[in-house]
Amino acid sequence: MRPEILYPLFTSIGSIKGVGERAYKLVTNLIGGDKIVNMMWHLPSNIIDRSYAPRLANAVAGRICTVAVKVVEHIPPKNNRQPYRVIVEDDTEQLTLTFFKVYAQSITKSLPVGEFRIISGKLESFNGQLQMAHPDYIARPEDIAKILGIETVYPLTAGISNKTIRKYMEQVLAKIPNFPEWQDQKFLEQQKWPSFKEAILKVHNPRYLSDLEPFATERCRIAYDELLANQLALAIVRQRVKKQYGRSICGNGELRQKIINLLPFKLTDAQQRVLNEIYADLQQPYRMLRLLQGDVGSGKTIVALLAMISAVECGAQAAIMAPTEILAKQHFETIEDLCNKIGVSCALLTGKTKTKERKQILADLAEGKINIVIGTHALFQEDVSFKDLAFVVIDEQHRFGVHQRLMLSEKGNKADVLVMTATPIPRTLVLTAYGDMEYSKIDQVPEGRKPVDTRVLPLSKLSDVVQGLKRKLETGARAYWVCPLVEESEKSDLAAAEERFESLKKIFGSSVGLVHGKMKEKDKDAVMEDFKSGKINLLVATTVIEVGVNVPEATLMIIEHAERFGLAQLHQLRGRIKRGFEASTCLLLYNLPLSETAKERLNIMKNSEDGFMIAEKDLELRGGGEILGTKQSGFANFRLANMEVHKNLLHIANQDAKMILELDPKLESQRGQALRTLLYLFEKDDMVRNYRG
Ligand code: ADP
Ligand code: MG
Repeated sequence: MRPEILYPLFTSIGSIKGVGERAYKLVTNLIGGDKIVNMMWHLPSNIIDRSYAPRLANAVAGRICTVAVKVVEHIPPKNNRQPYRVIVEDDTEQLTLTFFKVYAQSITKSLPVGEFRIISGKLESFNGQLQMAHPDYIARPEDIAKILGIETVYPLTAGISNKTIRKYMEQVLAKIPNFPEWQDQKFLEQQKWPSFKEAILKVHNPRYLSDLEPFATERCRIAYDELLANQLALAIVRQRVKKQYGRSICGNGELRQKIINLLPFKLTDAQQRVLNEIYADLQQPYRMLRLLQGDVGSGKTIVALLAMISAVECGAQAAIMAPTEILAKQHFETIEDLCNKIGVSCALLTGKTKTKERKQILADLAEGKINIVIGTHALFQEDVSFKDLAFVVIDEQHRFGVHQRLMLSEKGNKADVLVMTATPIPRTLVLTAYGDMEYSKIDQVPEGRKPVDTRVLPLSKLSDVVQGLKRKLETGARAYWVCPLVEESEKSDLAAAEERFESLKKIFGSSVGLVHGKMKEKDKDAVMEDFKSGKINLLVATTVIEVGVNVPEATLMIIEHAERFGLAQLHQLRGRIKRGFEASTCLLLYNLPLSETAKERLNIMKNSEDGFMIAEKDLELRGGGEILGTKQSGFANFRLANMEVHKNLLHIANQDAKMILELDPKLESQRGQALRTLLYLFEKDDMVRNYRG
């Protein structure tokens, strides 16, 4: 249960004075949630210094000024191109305030002739005359203290002003409790860090621009809180898994050898090394939890199969869970073929499996007639039970953190877990996404793969590209056409893809297909099937094809507006045409003008196919939060921690978390209790809730 001290932060922003229905909607959208705590995490992005309060005669134009003036005269506009003007003065000089398109009534009300007012805004000089267009503040003299000084500026959305946000924020800040300290006192003193409350209040009240930087003391304190919450949550999950005594899986290697004999290729050294690491883990009498990273095409499926076969050799069952139907089916096709030849039974179980077939599969799983099951998360529905599930492979492709859910669901009989990901992830991000999970890396692709010929071209060459595409398709090739990603707007992605589809259909006719994320799974599968079978040879797609689709015959990929994609994403996409032994080509079409970073990104793509290198570069160029260009990637979505700046803090937090659990595995001590609050504050409750020490 959430500690009581957090209740005020987890109430709705509807409880803030002044937040009506309209503001509620706007603010919820802006801050990405409807809780006070979401508002607290809506951090300032800038400051405006309003402390410059000169006499008008001495005022420097171009600066933000706060001046005390008397209202002299109103000059309404003669036509609607003219502004409404108000002349004001202090005892040294006059100033003209100008207003475009505002109700005269509201101006006469806020600036009555003959009265004194405080005006704040940017001062300009026009033909030697002082002017200010649309002052930011018009206030009564008694309110000067509220204006004079540093104004905190927040990221905004249309329809809500900074003033309003700040007004709400003051109420939010007033609700932040004095938390019992969850950090080690000595460490705090060493770092000269304030308490959480002091820190967050300071973050919301910056004095200097440097206060906004990630390395500002207060921001570091909170970044550390956040990193510790992240590392502690992961360590808790890990501890849970590790603590459970597992079983030793130690097959005799017979079936394994049979499969190896069936393979038309020799395992790469990297595959062999990783397999040895996995076998060694499986033999240990505690539960295995290991991450397997390998670039697209590095041959993870066969590694997963050989590992699963070990469980089968021991008379137990194994399962592999893929993130989508298509991928599950793909794995099934590879695995079924080999399994059939060696007398191991396997089945495919997804959300689409027919009721009757599903019933049979469930019965067979429960009786142990099925050795290996391949599926989607449908595998982990309640009515699925195994006779003796000993090993689970989770293919996350490039979603992250899914494994956590699984670890908490206890289908298996102390099952060992292998998590596979196809996205090379920089070391720091591995730590934030998986904690100290054991880690294997297939850092080699099978020999003989031809490099992809990657070319970078301006969009203006589009008609040449289409001609080239036509020639290629006529020789029997298959191609992907990937459409641009429009920020945060699936709908316009779709519109762009549909438009391109229509225009290509005019040229290529019925051999063009379209897939996008908004399609029904069934329709998507059907189009993919057509592309696989060659019924269509040109597939227009949004980034949905990124996730592990395998059509070895596809040798050409055109990526439109490549400059809008992240490096890691481009790498994933390009991986789709890197599966065969045929030479393939990737055209990156960009739109001008290109930023320096974009240019650099496209160049990296042109010159390298090393996913791990590309991932590191991507992190450098874009920062961790954006590494996959999406918020849904499952990477810890840090509010404040920044993987470049706070890298060192991450490593300290990692050690700290380990030590905390060693000394106080159930988080029962005084600090332990405070740490629970920390976990809830950063919304790691799913892990804490299931945590009984
Ligand atoms: P990924 O790591 O992307 O999941 P896959 O397991 O799908 O890669 O393997 C990609 C292709 O490479 C498959 O067609 C597979 O049969 C083949 N492959 C796997 N290992 C080797 C190897 N050692 N030598 C040659 N081809 C291999
Ligand atoms: Mg794969």
